[in-house]
Amino acid sequence: MKLANLVMDQWVDGTGEGRLLTSAVDGEPVAAISSSGIDFADVLEHARKVGGPALRAMTFHQRGEMLKALAKDLQEHKKAFYALSTRTGATRADSWIDIDGGISTLFVFSSKSRREMPNDTVYLDGPPEVLSREGTFLGQHIYTSKLGAAVHINAFNFPVWGMLEKLAPALIAGVPAIVKPASSTAYLTEIVVRRMMKSGILPPGSVQLILGGVGDLFDHLSCQDTVAFTGSKATAEKLQRHPRVIAESVSFTAETDSLNASILGPDAIPGTPEFDLYVKEVVREMTSKAGQKCTAIRRIVAPAAIAGELVAALSTALGEISIGNPANKDVGMGALASLGQRDEVRERMGELAGEAAVVYGGKENFDVVDADARKGAFFMPTLLHCEKPLASTAVHSVEAFGPVSTVLPYDSLDEAVELARLGEGSLAGSVFTNDNTTARELILGTAAYHGRMLVINRHCAAESTGHGSPLPHLVHGGPGRAGGGEEMGGIRGVKHYMQRTAIQGSPETLTAIGHRWTRGADQRDPGVHPFRKTFEQLELGDTFTSEPREVSLSDIEHFAEFTGDRFYAHTDEEAAAKNPFFEGRVAHGYLIVSFAAGMFVDPDFGPVLANYGIDDLRFLTPLNYGDTMKVRLTCKQKTLRGDSGYGEVRWDTEITNQDGDVVALYDVLTMVATDAHWASVAG
Ligand code: NAP
Repeated sequence: MKLANLVMDQWVDGTGEGRLLTSAVDGEPVAAISSSGIDFADVLEHARKVGGPALRAMTFHQRGEMLKALAKDLQEHKKAFYALSTRTGATRADSWIDIDGGISTLFVFSSKSRREMPNDTVYLDGPPEVLSREGTFLGQHIYTSKLGAAVHINAFNFPVWGMLEKLAPALIAGVPAIVKPASSTAYLTEIVVRRMMKSGILPPGSVQLILGGVGDLFDHLSCQDTVAFTGSKATAEKLQRHPRVIAESVSFTAETDSLNASILGPDAIPGTPEFDLYVKEVVREMTSKAGQKCTAIRRIVAPAAIAGELVAALSTALGEISIGNPANKDVGMGALASLGQRDEVRERMGELAGEAAVVYGGKENFDVVDADARKGAFFMPTLLHCEKPLASTAVHSVEAFGPVSTVLPYDSLDEAVELARLGEGSLAGSVFTNDNTTARELILGTAAYHGRMLVINRHCAAESTGHGSPLPHLVHGGPGRAGGGEEMGGIRGVKHYMQRTAIQGSPETLTAIGHRWTRGADQRDPGVHPFRKTFEQLELGDTFTSEPREVSLSDIEHFAEFTGDRFYAHTDEEAAAKNPFFEGRVAHGYLIVSFAAGMFVDPDFGPVLANYGIDDLRFLTPLNYGDTMKVRLTCKQKTLRGDSGYGEVRWDTEITNQDGDVVALYDVLTMVATDAHWASVAG
């Protein structure tokens, strides 16, 4: 029954009997856990000395491939996770959010890292900053992996997703993790970690698992470690004030309680699609995971004129939800995570009832399907109605972490905004309206108090991911009471585990450090046209310089006729001269870019496979007819695409006129065959 901890790549039993974990559904024992006897200084050292170097030896793309393989493996074995998840009180739909939601987070981070990050170990933050007149001294912000461990402390409500949403960005960043799940549902996290280890996909030391307390781990943290915490505000504050966290300025991200508001717009009266969508969403948010979602709608902010009708509609819909054994497919809402949690929610509901009337639920005795109500942590969905919400405090500050929400009526949009702000910082907020002017007013009035907000109307509802679903692409976190942290948000989440450093130096040095050719660094004529070189043969700085070409008036007229772009600046001398930017007719920008392609392309069959776009195109000096243009193409950045047989090559492209003035700047993007692929096709 006793589950082992994963420390230093070994499954190690904690000493003593440990803490007994019981099923949320029937109170039967599930497992015991103990982390007593573990040397936490060694755990941190193992992550730093073994896990970190192994992960940092891989590129972002290799780490992305690793996450993809891991996600696939977990997907193949998820049946066992689903079976155990029931014991946490979760229905199949709840488990889907936790298990499939967690796995899909791995997939998203895998794909984003490979698409949006270089196949390298250093991530460049923006373009170089020119710091000198001659351009010999520049600045460049870079991100590199922190050299410590990521300590992940998770809440009990999402034992799988909670772990994976933190693990994915940390591993992409090249930082090993020490995972400490909340005790009550740690048995589910444990089988997932066991599977992850069995897959053999992760390098040694990259993940460790602590079941139970973290002992003196915090006493050994250093400035290279990161803590990402999810749980109550009280615990977050305690840990954030740990002397070592303060002394070492340990990076600390907190996701805490949140009294999330959802506002029904004044236009969304009964009979409109938005009203119906609102009722459906509030009920879903109240009952999914039995309301144990940090993002769930706790405050239902609705026009006073229709509050009565809303309460009636919500009560009817809540009455249709059957509560009971989550393994029974007819059950719509399972149990809270533990009996302790049930008592806690009861107590909080009592505090809310001091300011608001219970209008649905709130009973201790109610029908439970296929389970013993006395043994399981079942709780009846409960709706409250607070008549004077602006004069109340508990409804904006007491979080009953279960299926409990309060209707807060408002008389004007300003009041709705004020009510939403009274939550003092939330993870998620939403607005249901089909009036975009109302949407803008409500969003601009409340966004500063929220980490994520969604606006739902009849046009997007069917495809909406819902009020309470954090997405790997978007930030999850919120100001104030919500902890002030931020997780996920695509590559933003990866950067939380990396250090941003401003590097200053010469263009050549910055090119060598960042593996991106920097303007001002050497440009070499490789002796052959760079389009004759394979991906491996190309070197940053390889440059092709064209012969000059004159652009005639007939070229411009021909282009205007041929493309249909007869804009006056190219076709009407007098009108063009009145334009503040031109002295007369000028060449089309796209003519210049088209001519440039004709001037730099090496036409014969070769390793360059395709041009897939242009980035950052800017026209800087007009080209008048009679002017000559010249193009210079420099190999700027190379990104190998796994074992696809090609890599992406970015070419810095500069077009100048006869006086050396820069006419246009842009990056040409090509795919170039690797040696192996080129050998196989070129024979
Ligand atoms: P909690 O008591 O703060 O526990 C959260 C985590 O902190 C658990 O893993 C817990 O471990 C651990 N912990 C507690 N004391 C600790 C200490 N002294 N040192 C190190 N770790 C410690 O929160 P809870 O009441 O179980 O969780 C519910 C709360 O989490 C709700 O308020 C909810 O709003 C919030 N939550 C927030 C989010 C979010 O994303 N923002 C998500 C889910 C939940 P043990 O279980 O072993 O005590």
